[in-house]
Amino acid sequence: MTIPFVTLDDPRYGQAVQVAPMVQRVIARNPSKFTYHGTGTYIIGANDVAVIDPGPLSDTHFDSLMVALAGRRVNAILITHCHSDHSPLAARLREATGAQTFAFGPHAIDPSWIEDDTPEEPDDEDRAAAAAGETVEESLDLAFSPDVRLRHGEIAATGAGWTLQAIHTPGHTGNHTCFLLQEQRALFTGDHIMGWSTTVITPPDGNMRDYLASLQRVVDLDPATLWPTHGAPVTAAQPFIEAFVQHRLDREAGVLQAVRNGVTMIPEMVKLLYVGVSPKLYKAAGRSVLAHLIKLIDDGLVVCEGVQPGVTTAYRRA
Ligand SMILES: [Zn+2]
Repeated sequence: MTIPFVTLDDPRYGQAVQVAPMVQRVIARNPSKFTYHGTGTYIIGANDVAVIDPGPLSDTHFDSLMVALAGRRVNAILITHCHSDHSPLAARLREATGAQTFAFGPHAIDPSWIEDDTPEEPDDEDRAAAAAGETVEESLDLAFSPDVRLRHGEIAATGAGWTLQAIHTPGHTGNHTCFLLQEQRALFTGDHIMGWSTTVITPPDGNMRDYLASLQRVVDLDPATLWPTHGAPVTAAQPFIEAFVQHRLDREAGVLQAVRNGVTMIPEMVKLLYVGVSPKLYKAAGRSVLAHLIKLIDDGLVVCEGVQPGVTTAYRRA
């Protein structure tokens, strides 16, 4: 089953574009291999509004948002998760508007536990992006902490003619939350489900089992439209999500088969499973394979040497 990816061909940077009734989007100019054309900040409502994912620390994007919000009252600032392309501008917007910030919570885990290996070597594309002042990677915004913590199912914000409900969707990060615009059954999916790409599941904060359960949670919700932070809306949610689930299950089966065939190390598994993929993406692929291995260990099908699974650990069948 192939994933029916959708593209966004005409990003209008910095402009508030009406993309649906009650929904405007302002795209930040921070394109990268993680953010596609850039971060799409959504403004929900007419005169009293909520802002979803203010975006990266960017003066230009902040100015664009202030122009878009001029003369309107901001009821709430909602954050899907604390990656550097989603949450950092929230503090400044809060200051400027007086609105409170709402999210599932700050980053849940000890930062010292996050990355023990050296950062990825920047390639030419990254260097060009950095020179242009663009974001080159999806990093954590550990400084973020919401004024109000949301729980799954809670109403996050309301205004004239709109209601946004928090839908907790851990997987991409532990605190990832989508927001359902109830009046339109439109789901703002952050990075949980994107139209242009699969999402990155990188342990320990990323969790494959949670991610799959959170995909099912969206299926059960049966939204009419998905509005990802990056890229175009997805209008046929059900077959799209089914393709995502199948993609992960196929990959998991491939990882399990590799281990059963005696492949013990992640770099070898990546070479076997990611045929035709640029070696530039091998490191990210390795993190994804690790996420599958952690689930397979949980399932009792694989064991690892050493105290905890990592990218340099050896694996064998249980
Ligand atoms: Zn993210």
